[in-house]
Amino acid sequence: TMEGALTARDRVGVQDLVLLEDYQSETAFLHNIKKRFKEKLIYTYIGSVLISVNPYQQLGFYSPYHMEKYQGVNFYEMPPHVYAIGDNTYRSMRNEASDQCILISGESGSGKTEASKYILQYLSVCSASNDNVEHIKGRLLQSNPILEAFGNAKTHRNDNSSRFGKYMDIEFDHKGAPVGGHILNYLLEKSRVVHQASGERNFHIFYQLLEGADEELLSRLMLQKTPDKYFYTSQGKCAKVSSINDRRDFLAVQKALKVLEFSPKNIDELLSIVASVLHLGNVSFSANEEGHATVDREHEIQKIANLLGCQFEQLLQALTHRTIEANKEKMESPLTVEQALYARDALSKAIYGRMFNWLVLKLNGSLTSKNDVIMALITSQSQDRMRKNVIGLLDIYGFEIFKSNSFEQFCINFCNEKLQQLFIELTLKQEQEEYRAEGIEWEPVEYFNNKIICDLVEERHQGIIDILDEECLRPGEATDNTFLSKLEETVGKHPHFITHALGDSKMRKTIGYEEFRLVHYAGEVTYSVKGFLDKNNDLLYRDLKVTMSVSKNEIVKEAFPATELTKLKRPETVGSQFRTSLNRLMDILMSKEPSYVRCIKPNDAKMADRFDETLVRHQVKYLGLMENLRVRRAGFAYRRTHDIFLNRYKSLCPETWPHYDGPSRKGVDVLCKYLDYKEGEYRLGKTKVFIRFPRTLFATEDAFQI
Ligand code: ATP
Ligand code: MG
Repeated sequence: TMEGALTARDRVGVQDLVLLEDYQSETAFLHNIKKRFKEKLIYTYIGSVLISVNPYQQLGFYSPYHMEKYQGVNFYEMPPHVYAIGDNTYRSMRNEASDQCILISGESGSGKTEASKYILQYLSVCSASNDNVEHIKGRLLQSNPILEAFGNAKTHRNDNSSRFGKYMDIEFDHKGAPVGGHILNYLLEKSRVVHQASGERNFHIFYQLLEGADEELLSRLMLQKTPDKYFYTSQGKCAKVSSINDRRDFLAVQKALKVLEFSPKNIDELLSIVASVLHLGNVSFSANEEGHATVDREHEIQKIANLLGCQFEQLLQALTHRTIEANKEKMESPLTVEQALYARDALSKAIYGRMFNWLVLKLNGSLTSKNDVIMALITSQSQDRMRKNVIGLLDIYGFEIFKSNSFEQFCINFCNEKLQQLFIELTLKQEQEEYRAEGIEWEPVEYFNNKIICDLVEERHQGIIDILDEECLRPGEATDNTFLSKLEETVGKHPHFITHALGDSKMRKTIGYEEFRLVHYAGEVTYSVKGFLDKNNDLLYRDLKVTMSVSKNEIVKEAFPATELTKLKRPETVGSQFRTSLNRLMDILMSKEPSYVRCIKPNDAKMADRFDETLVRHQVKYLGLMENLRVRRAGFAYRRTHDIFLNRYKSLCPETWPHYDGPSRKGVDVLCKYLDYKEGEYRLGKTKVFIRFPRTLFATEDAFQI
């Protein structure tokens, strides 16, 4: 409670960091969240932003009792909690009839996905209900195990790491009952399908299938039970993970697929695709006398052709040859072993990636409110009853700085630059709007605008993405290194871009010849250009696309539409696609009222009760939390409605205690003057009192305690 927040501040710190006296001090900030973490208080606010530190243990405050407690209460009257964020968002949506979104960010393993699940559960419990709604709630909740099975994997950082970005809209009708949902997915880490680092796994579904399928299913899919029999599931050498029960999870996925109305045929096809990828990984090639690739065990190809419903001969040919056009004539050109392996992996990644997109499409079909269809037919419905509002949940990868950073980190960090820009813009806008609404003069805040970095990456013709695309247009001539030279030519003068050739002598020691460095808002990151062209192109030989497009497996056929083959335009690169989808996401988020959950990982060992200060300090920086606090504190540290403030402190002043029945704004005015608040220390808005410094409030609180 507010009382608890103020009186116990020595032991557990403040529950809102705007109350930190020394708000510029990173150390004070850290010590505050550390103190709370030690007391298992993992949540802390910066104003309305929630900071959450992963406890790595089951804590007791997620029970139905707690969900009940947070319903409809004043945001600051209860200890900080994701439920409070959920509740506040839901109430705002209802009261203002406005769209909301909750942006959850943080590095891998910081608890984003768990937080988003708690919020979804909360929304499901707190919202209105009836039989029909229960049905849709079930679907919304059950979409998670499916997406996690196909899109999550065990990594070094997290046993259940989301390898894609996710934005989910939950739609509510005019009565506040959930009626549907919609999912957008971003940049699945497809490379994991064909390669996993030691100690990491492929996507969960592979192990779930091998571990959980019964004999009959296994034999139909021509699979053996053991993951180490398959190249794609054996590289990481850790098929078994103690925290994961693949068999149980597989049952959960099967149940979820049924809840979401996947037909038995669809489920069958889905699992056939998963199995075919496993078989593809075991296809190997040898060079014949001419140096051309030939398949070692053709019966493997037979299995794959069976599972994918395509022609054995055609698949075999497409895996070892490519059709090239020279002088308007088509020719079959044999592949080298290296090229064939590349083609094999490209096919595996493409099949899996497109299956994932199909899955999301299909889930969206099941989550579409049935009412839409009916509503469209019934025109007599009033506009108001048709009205829908949404709450969007964004669970997306945080800033990544590894020892070696590649194209993937480049995309992810670009995404975080965009989100940071949105965050700063919207926070400032929110502050400004509150001041305006309260009739208080706005005091402009200086802040670092990272638009300049976003532009460096995404600007048309002269941004990094377009320069990369240009190089991708020169096959045979361009290499990762010519890309680097082009960068130096084009953006070499940009203040946020450095390379070996451009840096000063001191810097040269820290940047390699094949690297460039970006000065992100969160710090400097050095990227290796190796693989940039390949990853951006994401090339799949046309012959393989043709083979897939005539597949008898409906999912494969839908995922590789024949129309794609007739288009003359070259397919969009990964970079441009990502830019487009991110900008769309920004538009979506901009049109909603945002709330934020900033997740922090307390240690690298996935252990309870361990708080690694250095690690957390970095995250506080990457998440821009100090800047956030600064913006929030630039005006007034504390703000509460007149009612709440008066209620708490009225006993301190003879004019408001024991009897006062005037308007509360007037009461607060009298009270503040009596308490000798100085002019610059506070303002009275229309509905709220604003106090500039925490010390003013603490002095009042101390007087109150005596
Ligand atoms: P990634 O970016 O890799 O997907 P993430 O931020 O989504 O990471 P989660 O999967 O949500 O991280 O959390 C990692 C693990 O931490 C969970 O599997 C769970 O064991 C633990 N965890 C996270 N949040 C909580 C919580 N509130 N209570 C208990 N355990 C938690
Ligand atoms: Mg996650």
